[in-house]
Amino acid sequence: MKCEPTLTPDIDLLALREKYRQQADRRRRPEGFAQYLEVTGELEEFLEFEPYEPIPQRESLADETDVVVLGGGFAGLIAAGRLKSVGVNSIRIIDRSGDFGGVWYWNRYPGVQCDVESYSYLPLLEELGYMPKDRYAYGSEIFAYCQQMGRHFDLYRHALFGTVVKSIRWDETLNRWRIGTNRGDDVRARYIVMAPGPLNRPKLPGVPGIKRFKGHSFHTTRWDYHYTGGDWAIPELDKLAGKKVAIIGTGATAVQCVPYLAKYADKLYVFQRTPSYIDDRGNRPTDQEWAKRQEPGWQLQRMRNFHIGINEIFNKDDVDLICDGWSEINRNIQAARKAAGWPDMSFAQLMELREIEDYRAMERIRQRVDSIVKDPKTAEILKPWYRFLCKRPCFNDDYLPTFNRPNVTLVDVSAAKGISEITEHGIIANGIGYEVDCIIYASGFETTTDLRRRYGIDIVEGRNGLSLYEHWANGFRTLHGMSVHNFPGMFFTGYLQGGVSGSITQMYDQQGSHIAHIVAEAMARGAATVEPSREGEAAWVETIRANLMLDTNFWESCTPGYNNNEGLEVTRYTIFGEPYGPGFHAFDDLLRRWRDAGDFEGLEFRPSATPVCETLAAQNI
Ligand code: NDP
Repeated sequence: MKCEPTLTPDIDLLALREKYRQQADRRRRPEGFAQYLEVTGELEEFLEFEPYEPIPQRESLADETDVVVLGGGFAGLIAAGRLKSVGVNSIRIIDRSGDFGGVWYWNRYPGVQCDVESYSYLPLLEELGYMPKDRYAYGSEIFAYCQQMGRHFDLYRHALFGTVVKSIRWDETLNRWRIGTNRGDDVRARYIVMAPGPLNRPKLPGVPGIKRFKGHSFHTTRWDYHYTGGDWAIPELDKLAGKKVAIIGTGATAVQCVPYLAKYADKLYVFQRTPSYIDDRGNRPTDQEWAKRQEPGWQLQRMRNFHIGINEIFNKDDVDLICDGWSEINRNIQAARKAAGWPDMSFAQLMELREIEDYRAMERIRQRVDSIVKDPKTAEILKPWYRFLCKRPCFNDDYLPTFNRPNVTLVDVSAAKGISEITEHGIIANGIGYEVDCIIYASGFETTTDLRRRYGIDIVEGRNGLSLYEHWANGFRTLHGMSVHNFPGMFFTGYLQGGVSGSITQMYDQQGSHIAHIVAEAMARGAATVEPSREGEAAWVETIRANLMLDTNFWESCTPGYNNNEGLEVTRYTIFGEPYGPGFHAFDDLLRRWRDAGDFEGLEFRPSATPVCETLAAQNI
């Protein structure tokens, strides 16, 4: 099928800029992230609630392993798989959940699906010989694929599920990490890979009364099918018949589950602060003939194309392989340049063109709302007034038509900057009380809040009891975003002073492969420890800051959210954790050159015989 640019309407750029600014301002809250409640203390039940398979009890462990991987989602699975491929066999993955999968284990709400096309999102497809069933995979398939990865890399044998890490301490005398858990374990490890993912801890709106509510409530990441009826495979929520349900939040999660709630509940109130971008889904089964035609290396090429389609600018000869809403703007820019005869354009001119195409594409999305939602007032409330990627775009065929149902009420809480209170019987918003039987929190995750909150681990201590949180109190300090001075053999995955890819799993593979390369070298040298030198770490921090390419204008214009520090202050610390400015592929090239050089610049390998105290004294620590 030929990939065409979309037809987008004309716009009044200046008027729209002003409208976007006003819309962002009316949502900005001075408390920033402090507006959210952490699920600790009396709210911990939202996290501890185990709606799925019971996790068996077991005895506490006191043992030793080469590697502990903290987190059994894609980041952890890939890192462990890459470590296996360089000969590390003793690997314990530790995870709170009952299986591999991470977010794809926990998030089983009705309709859960990935908006990134499956061929670019599911990692290592060629290696595992797997082709997704559909263009956009359902959560159940992704979860099953994670399990397949666990089997493929033989990771089940040593995995510790149902286990929450409470403390991580470097033991100088043993040259090992000591990992303490809620099960009373004391696991010692030479290396530890932090792979908790960005969406592992739910957060709640910071309003009074959450515990006061006498009805039923849960967060979408712990969907309670016992209450709603149905299950993951067949989400017939028949127990909602006769019930009044409220859902708080209209992000990517709510967009997927709202149509199911509306279908089964007697009454559904959707509390919306900021509307999502909603385009059509266009899902279809994988074309088997197409699948057969793919040549070795196809997935990396596709991931590259996906990344460029979102983040960079297509050149004349680039073909948009993905051809969905993610690459629409880029596709349209390419068409506009072609129509103009490919004039030379400066970077600033390209950015200007990008802004125009962005506004046009968003106008198309707003017109689309009018074409689907019958009540003009409701349609108006559902229109997103911000630039593409300010918020996570959503693709769903059932969400907007849901607002044509008589049993669904959209409650706009943007003027009040959110709901105001939960009472014994329901929700208060805009001064009006809504009595309900059930409140579902689709209020998101600790994505960019304080690191200690995000990790949910009180103690992470390196040499000399140095706290990681203190080490990073004034900003991240890493080598390549993956290792930290005074934290020997501790490796990091995720958004942290590295390259940010459109497909998060591609980034995890880059990191897992690089970490495995370093560990293989440490093993080959018989090194007791490996960590960045003070100078190596400092040099990388300097490189990152010198190459910072933060589009401040863009982020400041955005409606508040976790992407732009809730719209308060656009600093380099966004969800992307101070990314390497030249981009993901430039970072990939940099890592490759670093590995090829073979001198492991910036890292220190300490031989087993080196007394650690001597080394520390030499560094004046
Ligand atoms: P989000 O953080 O995206 O959404 C949270 C929602 O809660 C927002 O609509 C937010 O409003 C609203 N909210 C927060 N506080 C209040 C309040 N006090 N009153 C009213 N509303 C409030 O969480 P999601 O779980 O939807 O998505 C998280 C991420 O997970 C996504 O960004 C995406 O990366 C991933 N995801 C991907 C999916 C996919 O691929 N299809 C599906 C689901 C999730 P506001 O916007 O104003 O802050």
